[in-house]
Amino acid sequence: MKPWPFLLAALVMANQLFALPDTHAIAGGIWRIDLPASATKPAVRFNDKAVKTVRSNNGWHAVIGIPLDASGDIQASVDGKALTLALTEHAYAEQRLTVQRKHSNPNNTAMERIRSEFARMSPVYTSFNNNTTEHWPEFRWPLHGRVSSPFGLRRFFNDQPRRPHSGIDIAAPTGTAVKAPATGTVVLTGDFYFNGNSVFIDHGQGLISMMCHLSRIDVKEGDVVEIGTTIGAVGATGRATGPHLHWTVSLNNARIDPRLVVPEPLKSESK
Ligand SMILES: [Zn+2]
Repeated sequence: MKPWPFLLAALVMANQLFALPDTHAIAGGIWRIDLPASATKPAVRFNDKAVKTVRSNNGWHAVIGIPLDASGDIQASVDGKALTLALTEHAYAEQRLTVQRKHSNPNNTAMERIRSEFARMSPVYTSFNNNTTEHWPEFRWPLHGRVSSPFGLRRFFNDQPRRPHSGIDIAAPTGTAVKAPATGTVVLTGDFYFNGNSVFIDHGQGLISMMCHLSRIDVKEGDVVEIGTTIGAVGATGRATGPHLHWTVSLNNARIDPRLVVPEPLKSESK
């Protein structure tokens, strides 16, 4: 057997196995810090909390989510030594939507529900489950379709400014299967006021997916789902103007652009 085809195949496999996201020095982006191979895992911290740190053939890599409200210089520390990243200003597009009044100005009963739901979601986003593989997980699109609303959109509901869009919206007919974008553990499911039927998947070390507006949920809390497993179906539950999947990717409690973690292009239907 000639060595070259074998070597090439091995290289391609290694590349697929360790498809680490690159640094995108913008709010909602990613900061990847490459560190040399060492027997002990380096202690990398951001906002004084541990961050996802994974292994590859080349050494260790800290992968940090940059919060959407970050600007200027941001800092991290590696084994106590400070590092700085200068962010580039990025102007996300603006969108104005008309929604039902109950979703733009929730009443007191709704506000109570929203607060209690926030109290259930918040610990998921701030969790740091170290019980996982030391490699960056493979990501694939949970479904293919047209992007009806990109990540980071600065939104106005009934002319009132709201938080920027914390995920990506992919339009698809109600009932379309929604797949786990990466292997992980289902840590929370429920019917939420804004997000509708939702599934939260923990991919380890503070890397979380939230899939929203589902018409159906096929998994339960505690389930370990492999990449590509159907976890539910597209719907329009919660605050939705039509059937679509909203997918949030959160890393160290920062919502980041899902496009940055999926190496393959999203196939949209041609119209
Ligand atoms: Zn959305």
